[in-house]
Amino acid sequence: MASIFWFRRDLRVDDHPALNMAIESAGADGDGVVYGLVSKTDYVELSTLSPIRQESMYASWRALDAQLGSGLTRVDDAVETITSRAKALKVEKVFVSAAYDPLSVAFMKDARHKIEAAGLKLIVGPGNYAVAPGKVVKPDGTPYRVYTPFFKAWFELANQEPLALTPGGLFKRLDDHLGFVSPAYETAFEGIATDFGQLSRVKAGQEFAKTTFDSFRKRGALFAYQEQRNRADLSGTSHLSHALAHGEVHPRSLLAQIGSSPDETTFAKELAWREFYADVLWHNPTSLTDYLQPRFAEMRYDDGTELGETRLKAWQLGRTGFPMVDAGMRQLLADGWVHNRVRMIVASFLVKDLHLEWQRGADWFEHWLTDFDPASNAHGWQWTAGCGTDASPYYRVFNPILQGLKFDPNGDYVRKYVPELRHIEGPAVHEPWLLVDGLAKGYPAPIVDHSDERNESLARLAEIKVN
Ligand SMILES: Cc1cc2nc3c(=O)[nH]c(=O)nc-3n(C[C@H](O)[C@H](O)[C@H](O)COP(=O)(O)OP(=O)(O)OC[C@H]3O[C@@H](n4cnc5c(N)ncnc54)[C@H](O)[C@@H]3O)c2cc1C
Repeated sequence: MASIFWFRRDLRVDDHPALNMAIESAGADGDGVVYGLVSKTDYVELSTLSPIRQESMYASWRALDAQLGSGLTRVDDAVETITSRAKALKVEKVFVSAAYDPLSVAFMKDARHKIEAAGLKLIVGPGNYAVAPGKVVKPDGTPYRVYTPFFKAWFELANQEPLALTPGGLFKRLDDHLGFVSPAYETAFEGIATDFGQLSRVKAGQEFAKTTFDSFRKRGALFAYQEQRNRADLSGTSHLSHALAHGEVHPRSLLAQIGSSPDETTFAKELAWREFYADVLWHNPTSLTDYLQPRFAEMRYDDGTELGETRLKAWQLGRTGFPMVDAGMRQLLADGWVHNRVRMIVASFLVKDLHLEWQRGADWFEHWLTDFDPASNAHGWQWTAGCGTDASPYYRVFNPILQGLKFDPNGDYVRKYVPELRHIEGPAVHEPWLLVDGLAKGYPAPIVDHSDERNESLARLAEIKVN
């Protein structure tokens, strides 16, 4: 009998155990027909997200459809289509990859209930982790809360071989296919007037992920990763986060292609951060939106005050007067992607200079990031806010000026995203207020004094410190 494969965040055909299960099932007692489905309604409605995030989803779907030989159908509601059409399609089994974040878990629980009520079987195959969340545990069976020992234990388990695609699958499209044309996302951008050029086009798909990884190796960035990965002005990282978040590549396939040099091991460690955060969220599902360290909920924040909300707006639009922060926030709006170091700088600034809760920033990131991942986002924010898994004994407050001078030493990154500062040469761009004409092209003066706000942040921390 034919199978239905419901693709969610596993938009590839290679190294895809759950898809192989669907093909094998369809081939065992039929002609291998698999109906591939994607749905714009998931636990979040796609049309509520930023135009660039919507486009990134559509781009991934288009690429997958091409790989399936036009065998992918987009529907409004996957569960509704499955339960109403399965009988006529002679389908009894529906396949899906495991997902571990709390909203997916709740959504799939409800989906299972409806699919089974319609007399069908929902079969869940392995998901997109080298080691599934919940599987890396201490010898006493409890989860790790600190990254370094997690990494050691994870690395021992993360050594499976990539799987080949099971041959014989015949992908077919349903007749009520809604097409893969995304909304014209440039027009939706009008509310946020920017003048830093055209929005980036999103490239996506399994083949693009392979090209991206090849380029990471060929341009030497993988082999200089330790030195260059923190530099915002260089292309020193892989840019594979969209592909990993959309499941266009399995991390196992990446691990199988990297050696054991120090640079390659550091890259494997970054892949492990993704898995560590998924594991932490699996064990602490409320940490998607709540403080992992609950005492931080008691801290004084400026959310809801007029000043706090005005500052939030300035941060969102890249108008804080701190060039490295503003470049990062504008990169988010333009590209739907931000360099990791800069994510830390802008996140620290929101929480520790503007005294706003991390969830406000996480929500904004969720809206825009084309690589949005629930666990990496929530815990990237919590780590930077100091309320998450950071094992450091001191409270980090990033200095946005020094961070800029260190990780964008010639100022090229800032000039790329902040046109009002392009008339300033070299590293002076990080402190434009020191120049006579530094703010002459409409760039704002700093909205806060960093050293005052650092002291304020430490004072608020002292109020919640448990002695
Ligand atoms: C506040 C904040 C929010 C973040 N939100 C997300 C998010 O929603 N989605 C997301 O994929 N990453 C997130 N990250 C992690 C990181 O910034 C991105 O994964 C990275 O910038 C992606 O670029 P890359 O693919 O070139 O990374 P590379 O340096 O090439 O790393 C390879 C892969 O390892 C993983 N990785 C690397 N660093 C981290 C990290 N610190 N935490 C978790 N995984 C990591 C990613 O899957 C990445 O693609 C966030 C970090 C912070 C500080």
